[in-house]
Amino acid sequence: MNTTVRAAAKINLHLGVGRVREDGFHPLDTVYQAIGIHDDLSLAAADDLTLATRVADHIDPADVPDGPDNIVLRAARLLASHAGRPATGAFEVRKDIPVAGGMAGGSADAAAALVACDRLWGLGTSDDDLLALAAELGSDIPFSLVGGTARGVGRGELVTPVDDRGAWWWVAVPAAEGLSTPAVYRHFDTMRPDAPEVPASADALLAALASGEPVRLARALHNDLQEPAIDLRPELGDLITLGEAEGALRGIVSGSGPTVVFLCDSADGARETAAGLAGAGHDVVLTATGPVAGAHLLA
Ligand code: ATP
Repeated sequence: MNTTVRAAAKINLHLGVGRVREDGFHPLDTVYQAIGIHDDLSLAAADDLTLATRVADHIDPADVPDGPDNIVLRAARLLASHAGRPATGAFEVRKDIPVAGGMAGGSADAAAALVACDRLWGLGTSDDDLLALAAELGSDIPFSLVGGTARGVGRGELVTPVDDRGAWWWVAVPAAEGLSTPAVYRHFDTMRPDAPEVPASADALLAALASGEPVRLARALHNDLQEPAIDLRPELGDLITLGEAEGALRGIVSGSGPTVVFLCDSADGARETAAGLAGAGHDVVLTATGPVAGAHLLA
């Protein structure tokens, strides 16, 4: 029997980035939200470890590694070695989350793989152990397990759920070509040599979230990687201006980009903004609500 796990894309409502540390990581104060764009991962019992990928129309299959570089296989191996058992199973990943888009698609798949393997192998791994393994694999992966809306500190891996009174409407516009997260952080280092050691606090964003008011949330959205991402891809700035002219309350680069997400005031507002962006020639325009659950088994 197959085990199927759904994992969501994330956006950063606040991404405060501090000066790079000696270990090469940047200290973060971030607020993540899981939104309704997701990958589904299914896992069947097998004698060896295999992976097949299927992608939505807006994703180039060549962008998704299908060998040992795929983070799904790395996650399976890490959990297997933690449990002292062989890593076995036949994975199939159905991808809808833009690749290298700043929406943590690989992290979502890794979180889904941890949940699926734990279930198929009957391990009953504790939540704390799963979170620690997730953090070892990547900074965004603990959030992909937790989902909802959560604050992340450290390098983003220390997550705590936060009060979120809203049901928020988002329009996401992925780019045809991804941006490398490390490249955007390197560009941040060049542009912001004076960045503070302590990243910009998420407090104002948290207050806006708790209010449940879209206009207030729109005003509070903040991303320190937006400037370097737009410097690398100037068209992202034009896209933000366009979406705001088409009715969005505010547009912001998602994480390290190049996906741009627009906060809208309602379902109708999101539909109108999406139609305006599509009419202006953007082929791929996705509409989603947030927050949604983290990696979870489908019945
Ligand atoms: P983040 O927001 O966490 O920085 P991202 O959304 O910008 O990540 P991903 O989609 O996670 O980026 O992909 C980054 C790179 O990871 C890709 O270019 C790809 O080569 C590699 N990769 C490995 N496994 C996967 C996977 N399962 N899905 C997508 N990319 C993967």
